Amino acid sequence: MTRDRSNTAFERAKRVIPGGVNSPVRAFKGVGGSPVFVRDAAGARFTDLDGNTYIDCVMSWGPLILGHAHRAVVEAVQQAAARGTSYGAPTEAESELAELVVAMVPSVEKVRFCSSGTEATMSALRLARGFTGRAKVVKFAGCYHGHSDSFLISAGSGALTMGTPDSPGITEGTARDTIVLPYNDLAALQAAFEAQPESIACVIVEPYVGNMGLVLPRAGYLAGLRALCTQFGALLIFDEVMTGFRVGPGGVQEREGVLPDLTTLGKVIGGGLPVGAFGGRADIMEQLSPLGAIYQAGTLSGNPLAMAAGRVTLQALREPGMYERLEAAGARFTAGMAEVFERHGIPHQSAYRGSMVGSFFTAESVVDLASAKTADTAFYAKFFHAMLDRGVYLAPSQFEAGFLSVAHDDPTIDAIVAAADEAVTALLAAV
Ligand SMILES: *Cc1c(COP(=O)(O)O)cnc(C)c1O
Repeated sequence: MTRDRSNTAFERAKRVIPGGVNSPVRAFKGVGGSPVFVRDAAGARFTDLDGNTYIDCVMSWGPLILGHAHRAVVEAVQQAAARGTSYGAPTEAESELAELVVAMVPSVEKVRFCSSGTEATMSALRLARGFTGRAKVVKFAGCYHGHSDSFLISAGSGALTMGTPDSPGITEGTARDTIVLPYNDLAALQAAFEAQPESIACVIVEPYVGNMGLVLPRAGYLAGLRALCTQFGALLIFDEVMTGFRVGPGGVQEREGVLPDLTTLGKVIGGGLPVGAFGGRADIMEQLSPLGAIYQAGTLSGNPLAMAAGRVTLQALREPGMYERLEAAGARFTAGMAEVFERHGIPHQSAYRGSMVGSFFTAESVVDLASAKTADTAFYAKFFHAMLDRGVYLAPSQFEAGFLSVAHDDPTIDAIVAAADEAVTALLAAV
């Protein structure tokens, strides 16, 4: 399998785009080598510039739960485009999608649309601060909430101290207001609240973490977060940008029966077009302008093409049996991969929830960022390339979840597992 055209396209891109990509993980730094440039896609597969076809286990990092170029989505976008691509004035399409969100996500009474997950979390944070009159935010190490300054903060030296900027360009002042704690550790959160009982505006969490690889909450963890936030008067924000409409119609909050005050959404909600959203309790959401004083806006927010793609996607997901199919795909994938790793004696921690899947190459059980980091990233990189050469596109990093879609039928999943068996056999023969 040659990728000459992808390599040439990457050289061209690098001349005019920093690193040749518009989002860093696409550059393959986590696995080495040069990224695959996409020509077109359909269903569970995409084809690169050289004509190689891959089974896609990334699916645009989550949005494409119906598969690539799903016919109803494409038609809805085409029809919307023919009526005008943006107006900057309200349309009924926005209410249609909002009604679906309110009907599906248990804690959301009112919702506002924006254009990315980053905008959603950034706006939810401002809303939480404005509503509570408090400044500080608690986040958990390894959770990703988009690239706004307040969330690009790592843990300070002590668990109760302020965070430190994770990137040049973020001020110490911003870092001071972000407290970073370990995931799955209620005692750490309790201690942070007790140290400053009146300063924490909100706790934001990926209720199932997808952004350090797939890491699940311990039994009682999410309910514990809920109880501590209520006790100390802070808002609980579930960042369901990845899990919303992915692990079930109502996201993690419905699966686990724990309701946050605010929820951030993205990815699936736009059906592959740029949509983010944040919503929750009406009394909080009504503090947003124009009703309230907390400002938030967007020229392309509620864009008619994006609303159409989102509406058709959520409607398709509400058809009977869809989430059962997605859950069965996750189960088949995970059981198949685990069987391959075990038969070859490769230590792994594999999990799934719905069509979100993940395997860490480590013998340690993974409950937080520190345990996730025990994974063998060098082996992952070799496995990734061995899979790529066999026509399977995995996430180009050990620390990312994988995504299946309704287009990943049983033969497709079995082909992924067969490729994994071949890949591991070849890797073990090489040492
Ligand atoms: C992807 C993601 C974001 C950021 O969304 P963008 O649309 O990339 O800005 C935020 N939170 C979580 C949990 C995500 O997975």
